[in-house]
Amino acid sequence: MKPSVRTTVIAGNWKMNMTPSAARDAVRETAALTAGKSGCEVVLCVPFVDIPAAVEAARGTNVKIGAQNVHFEKKGAFTGEISADMLLESGAEYVIVGHSERRQYFGETDETVNRRAKAALDAGLKVILCLGEVLAQRQAGITEEIVSLQTKLDLAGIPAEQMKDLIIAYEPVWAIGTGLTATPEQAEEVCAIIRRVLAGLYSPAVAEATTIQYGGSMNDGNAAQLLAKENVDGGLIGGASLVPAKFAKIVDAAQ
Ligand code: PEP
Repeated sequence: MKPSVRTTVIAGNWKMNMTPSAARDAVRETAALTAGKSGCEVVLCVPFVDIPAAVEAARGTNVKIGAQNVHFEKKGAFTGEISADMLLESGAEYVIVGHSERRQYFGETDETVNRRAKAALDAGLKVILCLGEVLAQRQAGITEEIVSLQTKLDLAGIPAEQMKDLIIAYEPVWAIGTGLTATPEQAEEVCAIIRRVLAGLYSPAVAEATTIQYGGSMNDGNAAQLLAKENVDGGLIGGASLVPAKFAKIVDAAQ
């Protein structure tokens, strides 16, 4: 049984997909299919330019809109970047930081992920902080060390009071977009490790209250088994979130 202090959050990460008009339709459809499903929070993290259309389409529904990254400075000469205040004013409530694609292709480090998380929390956004091991690290048997270290570095300097606005997404990099999924046992094992690290960094109460999602090829076929695990409090979903009917089935599995 999961403690009732934790919120289950099913979040979609659309990545670089959907134009604003497609986003409007997909948010409307997702909202219609998930209406009244109060057993979890439903979030769609959309490309920056889709945020206004997505927010408009989500108004009055149970779907919340998020972004996929945020810069750590408030403003200035950072061509191509988006600040937390810009996201907030556009109506975004959530933001992903530290996604493995940002780490892998855009040079994000634990230090920049930490700075982005802090900037977002300070501005009043809710953060979905992604971390996880790559295949070689799992094969070398150092998943626990890697994930523990990432948790500590990515949360450095974030006070306990702000942890209520932070979700951790455990995303084994080898499972993202590959069709390979961690087994429910593997997901549970690592989410429990992260929770133990949180207890040490903060307190058992903060650890118990923090939502820890699993992400990595979660779909309508495997979600129920993953979400049944005690320490898996939701999912961050890439590919399957682009198809409202599939995403809605994952939301169903979280009820
Ligand atoms: C993701 O992008 O965070 C993700 C988990 O993608 P997918 O579900 O496609 O593996």
